[in-house]
Amino acid sequence: MNRREFLEASTVLTGGALLAGVPVAANEPGAAQTTAAPDARMIGIQACAVAFVDEGTERVLDTFQETASINAIFLATFTYGRGIAGRQLPSQPLPDHGKQQYDADTFHGGNYATPHSQYYRDTAVVPEKAPDHPGYDVLADVLPAAHKRGIKVIAWFEDVLRYTANIAAPGFDRAQEVVLAGPASDFACSRNPNTRHFWLGLVEDYLRSYDVDGLMWGSERQGPLGNALVANHGGAGAGGRVACFCQYCEAEAKARGIDVKRARAGYTELMAWAEAVRGNRKPADGAFVTFWRLLVKYPEILAWEKLWNDALNDTYRDMHRLAKSIAPAKGIGWHIWHNNSFSPFYRAEQDYIDFQPYSDFLKVVMYNFCGGERLAQYVRSTQRSIFADLTPDQVLEFTYDVQQYHDQPLDKLAAAGLGPDYVRRETARAIGAAGPSMKIWPGIDIDIPPAASSKKTTPDDVYHSVRAAFDAGAHGVLLSRKYSEMRLDNLRGAGRAIRETARTFNAATERFR
Ligand SMILES: [Zn+2]
Repeated sequence: MNRREFLEASTVLTGGALLAGVPVAANEPGAAQTTAAPDARMIGIQACAVAFVDEGTERVLDTFQETASINAIFLATFTYGRGIAGRQLPSQPLPDHGKQQYDADTFHGGNYATPHSQYYRDTAVVPEKAPDHPGYDVLADVLPAAHKRGIKVIAWFEDVLRYTANIAAPGFDRAQEVVLAGPASDFACSRNPNTRHFWLGLVEDYLRSYDVDGLMWGSERQGPLGNALVANHGGAGAGGRVACFCQYCEAEAKARGIDVKRARAGYTELMAWAEAVRGNRKPADGAFVTFWRLLVKYPEILAWEKLWNDALNDTYRDMHRLAKSIAPAKGIGWHIWHNNSFSPFYRAEQDYIDFQPYSDFLKVVMYNFCGGERLAQYVRSTQRSIFADLTPDQVLEFTYDVQQYHDQPLDKLAAAGLGPDYVRRETARAIGAAGPSMKIWPGIDIDIPPAASSKKTTPDDVYHSVRAAFDAGAHGVLLSRKYSEMRLDNLRGAGRAIRETARTFNAATERFR
């Protein structure tokens, strides 16, 4: 088997095509739903421990199958963040299922399965068992129940080692990024061996200790250039800080012949430039020209940006290599941060074809409902830095043009969200750019909490987004970001699109077989 055939075989496994081979006893819960011809596509949902603890495992699985024909659960197994774990945020209405109580005071984060210490010998970061649900192991609970129904379980974990100033993975301080100046980074250095071996420890632990069907990891961060420009949604620091200048990164720079002093000087000037522009003290030559002047004067700025990206890409590569050495048939892939849809700088650094040698699938975030609010945030942020010479409306038009989709004007964007055409275009672009061996699973948002005046998810909207993904040729969809914040009628909207397109898809498969 050559490499491409191997990857195709392994992606078929995660794609769910082998679901037909999983026997379902007639008297098992969920049997009624799975006796119909199984969907060959990956129909996934992200879910976390609290949902199963609150509602009961069999009931949650019934809901997944009945509302949206789910055949793969992306189970949040490790994070210190609230994006993929915990109940609804306190500022938002609770959904129409689960315990009707907020958990902001009790949320902690960590490993929601059981850490096995032998896999973490090479790291100072401690694989803390999440104390949120004492005595509960989400993989041990959900895996057998899901497998009985032919539902796959993917361990889903993310690059979030710190929740608050007081709550972080023990040992995080020995992995933390070193900033050039200003506020500390909430993130770990991807090049620090403590960080790298921690992620590898989780890969090995999940694959050796549990019969999971695959792994997905996500990193919602960018390099120092994007962070200096605040070229992201969510505000300064959301994607990290101007980093990393730790001993490992500086040693790697020296090995590559990059002048560390000049890199520091370049970023120091860039940070001063950013502060001036943000403070309405725009240079006489304007924001853009003076930014570009710095890039030319200090090519080390871009060299350090590449240095940062290389450490993250090496992390993907190492995780993939280890996963394949343990379980070659199981898929491993990545969640691609939403900023990919907004910032052309970040998008340029997510070259899908480069992912191919170390990825079975990509979950490309195409959250269109909250996408309007987030795109507006990105526009207003960059209009106060690199694009300060333009009006906010011009920045949005420029962004639409270079990102190759068009949607609402700025004054309507947050309230209207992005439409299904954005999902269609982003899906088609990903499939076109990814090459033949990698599956593309668009991430569709359901009830991600927005600001009060921003777009709220409706069942018809979800229906159209899921349809758009499949119409553009998606190999699956991943309903995001956690079941514990989704309303059931919105899940049913996804289910309607999934059922309608399943017939078309299966007919097409038959024709080409
Ligand atoms: Zn570093």
